[in-house]
Amino acid sequence: MTAKIIYGKEVANKIKEEVKSKVLMLEKKPALTVILVGENAASKVYVNNKHKMCKKLGIKSDIVVLPEDTTQAFLLDLIKKLNNDKNISGILVQLPLPKHIAEEAVINTVHPLKDVDCFHPENIGLMFAGQPRFLPCTPAGVMEILKFTGVNLSGMNAVIIGRSNIVGKPQAILLLEKHATVTIVHSRTKNIASIVKNADLLVSAVGIKHFVRAEMVKEGVIVIDVGINRIKEKLYGDVDFDEVVKKASYLTPVPGGVGVMTIAVLMQNTLKAYELQQTHNI
Ligand code: NAD
Repeated sequence: MTAKIIYGKEVANKIKEEVKSKVLMLEKKPALTVILVGENAASKVYVNNKHKMCKKLGIKSDIVVLPEDTTQAFLLDLIKKLNNDKNISGILVQLPLPKHIAEEAVINTVHPLKDVDCFHPENIGLMFAGQPRFLPCTPAGVMEILKFTGVNLSGMNAVIIGRSNIVGKPQAILLLEKHATVTIVHSRTKNIASIVKNADLLVSAVGIKHFVRAEMVKEGVIVIDVGINRIKEKLYGDVDFDEVVKKASYLTPVPGGVGVMTIAVLMQNTLKAYELQQTHNI
């Protein structure tokens, strides 16, 4: 079997066009502020990509760059100011942050109605309860890719590698919503290979180049590669693409797969934040 390659671009374009045409109709435009603290090279690339996409879709975008030694108090103060600024629809603080700043404090300070990353506990709680306000960008992007395949996920054995708050945990909830039987494996899991072998659908978010090899997966598996591993300026996923492509039914490439979707969902969330602002008058 040779897998069908799912390019995120194809799926993302539809979402982006939808957002663009809705934004075009608005008199006042949605506005996203992205805060970048420190000198993380990968973060700079991500932030610039988000900025460029906003411009393309007619969304106002502002990047606030702060030095590595910014204090937590300063950052929280800035977020509070943006929370109270009626001209700002969405706030995104690019992670990871320098070690002296507690991510949790930052995530909890962003106003839940401006939380376009969907990291705030209130928004995560709403998603868990099946009443989502926003959806977390990467896991929701994965769901859009799966929708694009047309495959019915009901009853499938879905295995997620990685249990982060950003990808693995919310991914499990979104797959459960689609009636998959979900297993999360992580760094302390015993016999990962035997669990992965049983997967009809595999979502890998581990952050190790070529962690998923062909002998670990079963014939016909759907493989979504979330991993981004930057080695000597080249990007690799978690999946040994050249080998797994011979066994899977669907496979996403890196780059060109999930990453593109993450930004598309962020744009959707920014528009949603704008709409919420209108109805809640914040
Ligand atoms: P993370 O480091 O927070 O989590 C990694 C997870 O992998 C952890 O839960 C850990 O338990 C698990 N893990 C680590 N070593 C393992 C091992 N040997 N066996 C099994 N599990 C192991 O990372 P994250 O933020 O969830 O991101 C994961 C990957 O996805 C990274 O490569 C990141 O760059 C990428 N990512 C991509 C996008 C995108 O838009 N495509 C978005 C977010 C993250």
